[in-house]
Amino acid sequence: MKLILSFIVIYIMKWLSIITLILLFGCNSSSTTHQNINMENSSSQARIIKTEAEWKQILDPEAFNVLRQSGTEYPHTGQYNQFFQEGKYYCKGCNSFLFSSDTKFNSSCGWPSFYDVQKDAIQYIQDLSHGMRRIEVRCSTCDGHLGHVFEDGPRDKTGLRYCINSAALVFIPNK
Ligand SMILES: [Zn+2]
Repeated sequence: MKLILSFIVIYIMKWLSIITLILLFGCNSSSTTHQNINMENSSSQARIIKTEAEWKQILDPEAFNVLRQSGTEYPHTGQYNQFFQEGKYYCKGCNSFLFSSDTKFNSSCGWPSFYDVQKDAIQYIQDLSHGMRRIEVRCSTCDGHLGHVFEDGPRDKTGLRYCINSAALVFIPNK
């Protein structure tokens, strides 16, 4: 009888340790969100600050909606969505150099997609709107909303996808 009891205890202990291991690994894998995005924001940039009325004067209505009101253009409609000329993309609000065509790729998501950005050109902000947990990207210089960054970009590059509204950008071709 004693032998049977000790077998049962060993059996229960074995399963308890397996369950503990599963729980430990389960917790680890759920804490990996946004680990590839360096969310450090540079504060050394000279800022451009304007009133809403001043922005309305210099931006077209679509750019004002995106840059100043965090709007999103309809997917597959933007000027630079299926656009792959060589050149540079600047912020429509303040003309800061943001993205190079070298880092643009066809993601089929409906918005211009880049896997990298110019150093210190943008700031990263946690965005919990619309029931989602996303990282918003804004221009460091004028604070204009550009889009979001996701971790499903090309794995052989940075692994990031900067999903940007065409209306927030100005393209200048290489000479
Ligand atoms: Zn800007």
